[in-house]
Amino acid sequence: MIPYGKQDINQDDIDSVIEVLQSDFLTQGPKVPAFEEAVCKYTSANYGVAVNSATSALHIACLSLDLKEGGVLWTTPISFVASANCGLYCGADIDFVDIDPETYNISVTALEDKLKQAQIDNCLPNILVAVHLCGQSCDMEAIRRLSREYGFYVIEDASHAIGGEYQGKKIGSCEYSDITIFSFHPVKIITTAEGGIATTNDKYLADQMRLFSSHGVTRDPELMTKETEGPWYYQQICLGYNYRMTELQAALGISQLVRLDEFVARRHYLAEKYDSLLKGMALDTPKQNSSCYSSFHLYIIRLRLVDIPNKTHREIFQYLRDRGIGVNLHYIPIYTQPYYEQQYSCKIGVYPEADRYYEEAISLPLYPKMSEEDQLSVVSALAKAIEV
Ligand SMILES: *Cc1c(COP(=O)(O)O)cnc(C)c1O
Repeated sequence: MIPYGKQDINQDDIDSVIEVLQSDFLTQGPKVPAFEEAVCKYTSANYGVAVNSATSALHIACLSLDLKEGGVLWTTPISFVASANCGLYCGADIDFVDIDPETYNISVTALEDKLKQAQIDNCLPNILVAVHLCGQSCDMEAIRRLSREYGFYVIEDASHAIGGEYQGKKIGSCEYSDITIFSFHPVKIITTAEGGIATTNDKYLADQMRLFSSHGVTRDPELMTKETEGPWYYQQICLGYNYRMTELQAALGISQLVRLDEFVARRHYLAEKYDSLLKGMALDTPKQNSSCYSSFHLYIIRLRLVDIPNKTHREIFQYLRDRGIGVNLHYIPIYTQPYYEQQYSCKIGVYPEADRYYEEAISLPLYPKMSEEDQLSVVSALAKAIEV
């Protein structure tokens, strides 16, 4: 089976993890701060808080922005469920904004229309989670303008997007957002096995996120509410969690970061190859905005089913899977998940672009170590699958 995504681990990565195993610290040592610093340097963000997953990063991001019961979080329906679940963890309500038919990211027009209505209905969101699908940035400048106008915070869910750029700046710089989060799950651009990070330029938010990631306990006298009682003293000043990243994970992350640009360049090379190999087929290849440099976490095609009269989306997908092509579908609209359907009685038809996307989208295999031979097998299987 050719998988849709896969990590690339070299000897340096392995050595760096072994080195930690032989050191004094398996957790709470020097590697996590060094990894945070390396990610900050790469993205030019001021602060980074590394945690055990992007899901945890989303949770502490929402907590630091004071999301709670009675609050409202909006996001795109075409994302992994974690982009919305973070709001539920805080007891907030969730709502969705339809996608742009070209980029499949959140639609700024749909967002603006929904904000106008929400202002009338007095249910404006506290937070918008903007997901950079496939690694291509959302229209962040427009989203920031709306966030100032309507008074909501912006979290960039850049789980797909480390190494990508927007307006010539690295994603994660938080130029147009309050917090950006990245995932280091093995299918993502670089990996720490499990892991994530939140970047921000706001010291208060960074301090809050660090607290929430480690039990709400601090040893920083500046954050304490009363005088220290001695050198043993620490204070719990909020209810936090244990979301800490280990030293092994951070060492792997530092080592992987060295090859990040190489990984992204290889993904671009393969994506451009797909673009030309797929020309003339009854499908749409990914569209790229000129203001964006995608990290190409995913290469998603849309079938033009009107031009494929004898086959369904499902049949084409199944045909590929049966021939060892590990295609995938990113993502099932979150509002159709039973948990969300029951909680929100979401209906098909409210997000027509997301519904249509779900009927046509297929993620083709793409990862740095993918061979051009494997890529040709994917393309020829796809050509056969849609042959009429
Ligand atoms: C992978 C992913 C997450 C969750 O990342 P974890 O590190 O696995 O918690 C969240 N949002 C999106 C868009 C993702 O792709």
